[in-house]
Order: sequence, then C-alpha cells, then structure tokens
Amino acid sequence: ATPTAVTAGIGRGAELGILIKKGEALEVSDRISCVIFDKTGTLTLGRPRVTDMVGDVLGLAAALERKSRHPIAAAVTERAEEEGVDVPEAEDFRAIPGMGLEGMVDSHHVLAGNRALMEKYGIPLEHWDPEKFESDGKTVVIVAVDGEVKGIIAVSDEIKPGSARAVRELERMGIGTAMITGDNRKTAEAVAREVGIGTVIAEVLPQDKATRVAELRERGEGVAFVGDGINDAPALAEADLGVAVGSGTDIAREAGEVVLMGDDPLDVPAALQLAGKVISRIR
Ligand code: ADP
Ligand code: MG
Repeated sequence: ATPTAVTAGIGRGAELGILIKKGEALEVSDRISCVIFDKTGTLTLGRPRVTDMVGDVLGLAAALERKSRHPIAAAVTERAEEEGVDVPEAEDFRAIPGMGLEGMVDSHHVLAGNRALMEKYGIPLEHWDPEKFESDGKTVVIVAVDGEVKGIIAVSDEIKPGSARAVRELERMGIGTAMITGDNRKTAEAVAREVGIGTVIAEVLPQDKATRVAELRERGEGVAFVGDGINDAPALAEADLGVAVGSGTDIAREAGEVVLMGDDPLDVPAALQLAGKVISRIR
C-alpha cells in the first residue's frame, strides 16, 4: 500500500466530516457489500415527540420515564412538562432492555413499554389498538397499571433528510441496505418504506444486534454497521466496518472505525466512494 494515498484519503475524509481512525478502514470499506443502519438516531433524528395520547396516563408514564435515558423518555417527560401534569415519584424503578420500564407509583405497579413488555407480564391489550399508530411509523408506549392497560402514548421520530438518498445511492453502487431496530415490526416497516430500505430486522433485543451482524458476515457479506447508541457498540465492533454517528454516545464513537461528524447518512456512501478511490490508486 502506498501510505501517501491513504493519508490523502484520510485527509479528504476529514474535510468532509468523515473521521477515518485508521488507514485499514479504507481497505475494508472497499469490500463492503451490505450496510446495516440502526433506525433510531441514525436514519431518524433520534428526538421523538409525543403525537397522540389515548387515556389519561401521561403523569404515570412520566413518573417512570423521568428515570430513563431512552429517547422516548425525553419525549414523554417533555410533554408532561408542557401540559403541566402532576408527575408522582416512582419507586422500585427498573428498565427492561428492549421493552420498557417498570416501577411502583402511589403503591400501584406501573409498566410503560411495548407489546413485548405486556406479553412478558401477561397483560392483554383488549380494545387498545397500537397498530393504527405503528402503521404510521410511530412507536407506542403502552401504560399498564396493576396488570391492566390504562392508556397509550404514541411518539414519532422524524426521518433525517438524507436517509432516503443515502439508501438510493448505496443501492446504485450495488451495495445492499438493511435497517435494524429494537422497535416493533409495524413501526419499523413503515419507516423502512419511507426510507426505501427493503430489509427490516425488527424487535431485536440490544444484546442481539451484534449476533445479527455476525450472521450476515457468515453468509460472506462484507458488513458495515452504522449506529449511534450505547447498545450499538458490540455491533459496531462485530461489523467489518463500524461507522459511528458523531452526535451519538462516546461508547459508539470509540467502537467505530469511522465517525460521521455531521450525522448525515449520505456520508456513508460518500465514505465508501472515497475508500474506493483510494484503493484504486494503490492497486
Ligand atoms: P432502539 O434503539 O431501536 O429504540 P431499544 O432496545 O432501545 O431499541 O428499544 C426497543 C423498544 O423498547 C423501543 O422501541 C420501545 O418500544 C421499548 N422501550 C425501550 N425503552 C423504553 C422507554 N424508556 N419507554 C418506553 N418504551 C421503551
Ligand atoms: Mg439506537
């Protein structure tokens, strides 16, 4: 390899806001056949807002959510503040990864989370219907009190302006794309449709993201993983190329070989094109 081409490539990347930590990342980039995008914070802004509420559960939900650092938590607590609702103190709080939250509020057992959480506790949805929100790409927080659903809160996370073009560009380059998320299948499919991604890997528990990356690698794919969160770090490390979104967590930035300072999904095809140019100059 000629170090000058690599150095120039790294320099050009830096100008574009694409931080390439090691020269080897350029060689790996040239072998990528599939890019897996994390949904929340990578293809979407990662700043969901409450859009719909059914039932009177905002205060209860906020009691739990104010102890959580999930993006959904910020949406719910913000709305509770805006509406000036009374937010009681929660005790025995616990986060259940990939599902939601549990705690005691005024001596009542409260759950706030997805269908999987309700299933885990054997709580029937009865007439409550998350699906009509999910088919719009919204994520639904189901709130149950003492084993009975009392309401639902829907949040929506805007898709980044560059997401659809990034996917189109990669497909044009002959590179496959997929989206991975802990979110439910209906919501994920609605977002994927808007972005133009055909392959959806949904309802993945945080600890299983890396396993899904490993499965694709075993099938002979050169896999790039693009993510931002704490729970993305193992998948970033498992991928042939880990691409961290700059505004994400320190842990993700450390795990990635490439860091996108501008948070723009379009920098993914740009980085792979840059790598292609560098490698063709070396060969
Ligand atoms: P992702 O990074 O794709 O959002 P997570 O594993 O963080 O994946 O979350 C998966 C799902 O678990 C969320 O879509 C949501 O339904 C539920 N969940 C996680 N944390 C919370 C929370 N604090 N409040 C409500 N629901 C939550
Ligand atoms: Mg995420």
